[in-house]
Amino acid sequence: MKLEKLISDFLDPGLFAPSGLSRVLACPASFRESQTVPRGPSSSFAQRGTLLHEGFTMVWEFYVARNESKMAEVFKNLSIVPEDAQHVLSCCDYVKTQLITCGPRATIDLEQHITLASWGLPDVWGMADVVIKDPDNHRIIMDDHKFGQGVPVYAEENVQLLTYLAGVVGFPVEWDEFEICIIQPPLNIYSSARVTPEELKNFVNKVALGIEAAKKPDAPYVPSEDTCRFCAAKNKCRARYDMAVNEAKEVFSIASRMPEVTVKDKARLAELLTDIEQVKKALFADMHATILNGTAIPGWKLVAGRSIRKWADEGNAMKWILGEKVFKDPEDLFTKKFVSPSQVEKLNRKMKKDPEFMKLVIKPVGNPQLVRDSDKRDSYVTGAEADDVFKKL
Ligand code: SF4
Repeated sequence: MKLEKLISDFLDPGLFAPSGLSRVLACPASFRESQTVPRGPSSSFAQRGTLLHEGFTMVWEFYVARNESKMAEVFKNLSIVPEDAQHVLSCCDYVKTQLITCGPRATIDLEQHITLASWGLPDVWGMADVVIKDPDNHRIIMDDHKFGQGVPVYAEENVQLLTYLAGVVGFPVEWDEFEICIIQPPLNIYSSARVTPEELKNFVNKVALGIEAAKKPDAPYVPSEDTCRFCAAKNKCRARYDMAVNEAKEVFSIASRMPEVTVKDKARLAELLTDIEQVKKALFADMHATILNGTAIPGWKLVAGRSIRKWADEGNAMKWILGEKVFKDPEDLFTKKFVSPSQVEKLNRKMKKDPEFMKLVIKPVGNPQLVRDSDKRDSYVTGAEADDVFKKL
């Protein structure tokens, strides 16, 4: 979670944080509804995100100075685990490649506070991760770091990033070129999009209309799986449950025609069931939190999940087992495995760019996964088509 989210959630919920703006534009009522929900402690995912953003800000100057020991000290002091430290360093690597493309007068700002006050929208407030101003090329580059491992995020038409950009650029627009980038190392996403001054102005006009609509007492509800997913009000929102009820009715209507259904019906069924599954997940998460907080829910309880046995004290266990001499070859008690390519890269970051090392690595095609066609990954290639692709490699 970024500082901007903390401020909009806890200090002034009347502010529009760029991270929540796409939802407000899609469902204007979500602005009012979210304010009625008391905020609990942030999740462990959000805390990790905050920590890694902080890690990037603190480590950048040592990265530039190539001071490895200071970088290690930052990670240690912040208790950032090695895998996450690699993600932070991947962000540093990417920013470095961007700076190389800039002129000598380029400047970089981290965690820059922005508002859209100069555009007439003072209640939009946020913090931009990385802002590179490149006056020699009349352009601004803006980066946003994502450390989540679940939902992939892309730069194109990204409301959050465009809002930061509008705040950084200000009105009137005096720059010629803009580039917005999402860096999401855990999912290996390095996505960028170009934006023209005209597109930026049109975007801010859209935001202004969306904010005006959101402030009205009768702001409309526009539920959808994507929009409601991260809405704070999702567990108490009537519109969302109504959507789920209507979707469930449609599921039964299609299911009643089984097996005489078309592929179009199947596509719709999968879409509906995915939405209903999200409603169920949110409801279960809410019930889980309710019981953990001490309120009983009739017919439901929490139990300990499956756990795996482990040594109470590994050193003691080793001493005892070796002392008993029940194993002919004590080597049987230990395993040693050759590390993976990504572990080699973690041990020595230079390997990532070593062409000889890269020749040793292959990436098999993963198992096919069913996703919506809005997913930006290439379609899975099957059978004969796959053979053709591999012949071309
Ligand atoms: S749960 Fe969905 S429909 Fe309800 S306010 Fe939030 S975004 Fe809008």
